Amino acid sequence: MTSDTRPNALLRRGLMLILSSPSGAGKTTISQMILDRDAEINLSVSATTRPIRPGEIDGVHYHFIDQAAFDQMVEAEEFYEWATVFGHSYGTPKSQIRAGLKEGRDFLFDIDWQGTQQLYQKDQQDVVRVFILPPSIEELRRRLTGRGTDSAQVVQARMDRARAEISHWDGYDYVVVNDDVEACYTQVCEVLHAERMKRARQTGLIEFVRGLMRD
Ligand code: 5GP
Repeated sequence: MTSDTRPNALLRRGLMLILSSPSGAGKTTISQMILDRDAEINLSVSATTRPIRPGEIDGVHYHFIDQAAFDQMVEAEEFYEWATVFGHSYGTPKSQIRAGLKEGRDFLFDIDWQGTQQLYQKDQQDVVRVFILPPSIEELRRRLTGRGTDSAQVVQARMDRARAEISHWDGYDYVVVNDDVEACYTQVCEVLHAERMKRARQTGLIEFVRGLMRD
């Protein structure tokens, strides 16, 4: 089937789907489900100065670079946004994303509220912001308590951080409560699919409609 007879296959501009949540709300699981099941979206790979962790792959999970290289990229304005999180620098390189959006590829961002704000300020038209909330404070505490091996103090610090992140919920376009992982995943997909259909993103529509108007 050719792209000029089926609106769903029309050319479109890609979008930047931002998923944020307090840790323990299931964002990583939801992100992974989307990446595994939807071929049109890729993870935006950030650059970071933090040390690589076991199981991580350079260029897949992050671009691991040193502080001097990071500072040079900041200087050259090669980041969409960057932030210092837990003492390390993190940034979103512009080049891969700009080219991808033009070709109709979507990018998934797993970034915090600070990065979300910066990205939105730089490029409102391409950004879709989704916040994931835990179903209750008890459930969040249960998830952050983990296997019960951490001290009450450590768990409390995680709870405080989670509450601080939750306080930024109103800076997002969509808010989804993660009561059930599959249901939450479905809701995020519904947002993604609807956003892809937005008229402004369907760059092939003008040609398509012109064709419909011809005698
Ligand atoms: P981690 O080091 O555990 O992978 O990530 C730590 C934090 O940094 C997470 O909250 C994550 O969302 C945030 N982060 C990762 N990449 C970026 C980025 O490119 N920009 C911003 N602002 N935050 C990021």
